[in-house]
Amino acid sequence: MHKININPHAMRRVEHPIKPPKKYFNCNSKVVLQHADDVFGRALGTWPWLYICTRCNCRVGTHPGTDIPMGTLADHETRKARQISKSLFIDWAKRNNYSQTRRYELLSSMLDIKITKCHFAMFDLDTCKSVIQLLTRH
Ligand SMILES: [Zn+2]
Repeated sequence: MHKININPHAMRRVEHPIKPPKKYFNCNSKVVLQHADDVFGRALGTWPWLYICTRCNCRVGTHPGTDIPMGTLADHETRKARQISKSLFIDWAKRNNYSQTRRYELLSSMLDIKITKCHFAMFDLDTCKSVIQLLTRH
C-alpha cells in the first residue's frame, strides 16, 4: 500500500478546489483514492493519485501534491473526449496567441458556462463534443 504525501503549498495553490468525491453519482457507488500502481500496476505521470469508482472504474486524477480532484469522475469515452477537445483547444489558443486567462474566458463564453466550471476535467461528453465543434469552425 502506498501512502499519499500531501504538500501544503500545492494544496494552497489550487484555485477553486473541489471536494474529494465519496460516491459516484452515476452508479451511486463508493469512490476511493488510489495510487496508480495499485490500479494499473505502474505509475503514470509525475503524480500518481486518482479517484476511482469501486463499481464502474470511472476515474479522475488529482492536482500534483494534493488529494484535490482535477474534476469529475469520467468513463473511458469521456476521458478520451476530454483529451481530444483539450488538445484542440490548446492548438487553437496557440494559433491565436491567447493568454492562459484569455483562452478560458473565451471558451467559457462560447460554451455559456461559468469560468470556475470551465475546466476540461469537469466536462461531460456533450460539452467535449461542443468544444470540438466550436473550435473546428474557428
Ligand atoms: Zn461507478
